[in-house]
Amino acid sequence: MNKLYVVIPCYNEEEVLKETAKRIKKKMNELRKKKLIHGDSHVVFVNDGSKDKTWEIISSLVEKDTLFGGISLSRNRGHQNALLAGLMTVKEDADMVISMDADLQDDIDVMEQFILKYQEGYDIVYGARSSRKKDSFFKRTTAILFYKLMSFMGVESVYNHADYRLMSKRALDGLEQFQEVNLFLRGMIPLVGYSSTVVPYERNKRFAGESKYPLKKMINFALDGITSFSVKPIRFITILGFLISLISVVMFVYTIVRHVLGYTIVGWSSIIISLWFLGGIQILSLGIIGEYIGKIYMESKKRPRFIIEEYRIRHKK
Ligand code: UDP
Ligand code: MG
Repeated sequence: MNKLYVVIPCYNEEEVLKETAKRIKKKMNELRKKKLIHGDSHVVFVNDGSKDKTWEIISSLVEKDTLFGGISLSRNRGHQNALLAGLMTVKEDADMVISMDADLQDDIDVMEQFILKYQEGYDIVYGARSSRKKDSFFKRTTAILFYKLMSFMGVESVYNHADYRLMSKRALDGLEQFQEVNLFLRGMIPLVGYSSTVVPYERNKRFAGESKYPLKKMINFALDGITSFSVKPIRFITILGFLISLISVVMFVYTIVRHVLGYTIVGWSSIIISLWFLGGIQILSLGIIGEYIGKIYMESKKRPRFIIEEYRIRHKK
């Protein structure tokens, strides 16, 4: 039978953790009874440098029950890094790993379908939300905009898929070979390859507590996603520059002709407009190029993507 590990990154999740643990334990027992997973399967919580009681709760869960394991990072590194830390830590002992959020937004009943797909031979099973009815209007619009923008920029990603997915051991071994520091797992995992499939599910409201993804983090995440996977923005600048140069040639000829014909009048508006327009474009272009240079800078440092302070797990005898 196949050994399953469930990896759950947690940042200040004291309000939801106990309930999440309770429900997932029930689910894991069901899966065991149905002989879908090995008896020594585990749920591993990754504490992403929480400032509340999250790690205490995880530790006591590990203490009480061999089902649970805990990883504590040395500090807060963000959702993607915490998830990667979990995946890379458990993969040696696992046949398949499911990642999900701590807040019970991902429907845990879908895990069973994930496992069945794995047994059919898929290496990666993506959970994709079937609708966004339960999201706030703001989250829904920004998220849709984000996916549209991503595909426009040529980033290959699964529509409406967050980080709820199953990966096989060999898919995780593949992921390990990606050494980049700016993590955007949703864009990286399709690049791993192997056969994959999508399972739709209904995403719930956060069980308790607040979103750990405020607007600022969301924008950073979106920018990271685009600039880590696409050089199209730079291409746009090049094309824009080229078009503007063409126009300026036309304008040059036009101006000379008018000058020779003696039609020159002082054109204040046109000068001011072009001044602002070109100024704006130039600064924007510099900004975009700067983004990429920043990325190169960060990547060239090759800093560790996470540092594990503690890993606790107990195996059944
Ligand atoms: N998370 C994390 N580190 C962070 C921010 C979030 O590990 O710095 C975790 C969080 O505990 C949750 C998951 O990432 O399990 C998704 O976060 P959240 O539910 O707040 O995001 P949303 O669903 O609002 O997009
Ligand atoms: Mg959430």
